[in-house]
Amino acid sequence: MIIAIDGPAAAGKGTLARRLAAHFGLAFLDTGSLYRAVGAKILRTKQDPRDVVAAQGAAENLSSDDLTAPELRTEAVSEAASIVAAQPAVRAALLEFQRNFARRPPGGETGAVLDGRDIGTVVCPEPDVIKFFVHASLAARARRRFKELQARGDSVTEARVQQDMDERDKRDMSRGIAALKPASDAYDLDTTGLNPDQVFQAALDHIQRTRA
Ligand code: C5P
Repeated sequence: MIIAIDGPAAAGKGTLARRLAAHFGLAFLDTGSLYRAVGAKILRTKQDPRDVVAAQGAAENLSSDDLTAPELRTEAVSEAASIVAAQPAVRAALLEFQRNFARRPPGGETGAVLDGRDIGTVVCPEPDVIKFFVHASLAARARRRFKELQARGDSVTEARVQQDMDERDKRDMSRGIAALKPASDAYDLDTTGLNPDQVFQAALDHIQRTRA
C-alpha cells in the first residue's frame, strides 16, 4: 500500500500522513525535509540557493545529519528549499531515494506514506497508489503556520507568514518541473474548516471506499 499526499504548505499533509502511517503500520517520508535539508546546507555554507551547481552538490551529498538539522523548520530554510526545489538537477538527485523508499520501505514495512508536492504526479504516479490532494485557504494555512512559529518563540507577524507562504506556493505551482498540482486521480480534500480528526476520518473513508 502506497499513499501519496500532495498539497501546498501548512494544508495538514504532514499530520494526516503521520496518522495514516501509524494507523496502517506503514513507513512515513516527509519529502519536504529533503528539499529543506538541501536549502539549509546551502545557507549554512553561505552559498546562494539560486546557484545550480552548489544546490546540485548539496543534494547529491546529503547525509542523515542534514535531515535532522535543527534549523530545518525556519522561514529562511522554507524559502531556500523552494528555490532549490525548482532546479531539475536537485530533483533528479532526490528522486530515486523517494521511489525506493515507497517501493521498498527501509524498516521492512508493507508500504509507505509520502507527503510533498509531486508524489502523486512524479514520484509515485502509478494507478495503484492512493493519492490525496490536501489544501485549505491561504488565510487558514497562514494562521496555522503562524501559531506553530509563535509557539516556538519566533517573532513573526501573521501578515508576513501569509505573504511568504503565498510567494512560496506560487513558486511551487509555476516552476517548470514537478509543479505543485493535483494528480488526475487524486482525491481532493479541502481542510479549511476541518480539525485533524475530521481530516483523518475523511481520508480513511476514502481509502475504505477505494479498497471495497
Ligand atoms: O513540505 P515543506 O513545506 O516542508 O516543503 C518545503 C519545500 O520543498 C516546498 O515549498 C517545495 O518547494 C519543496 N518540495 C518539493 N517537492 C516535494 C516536497 C517539497 O518541491 N515533494
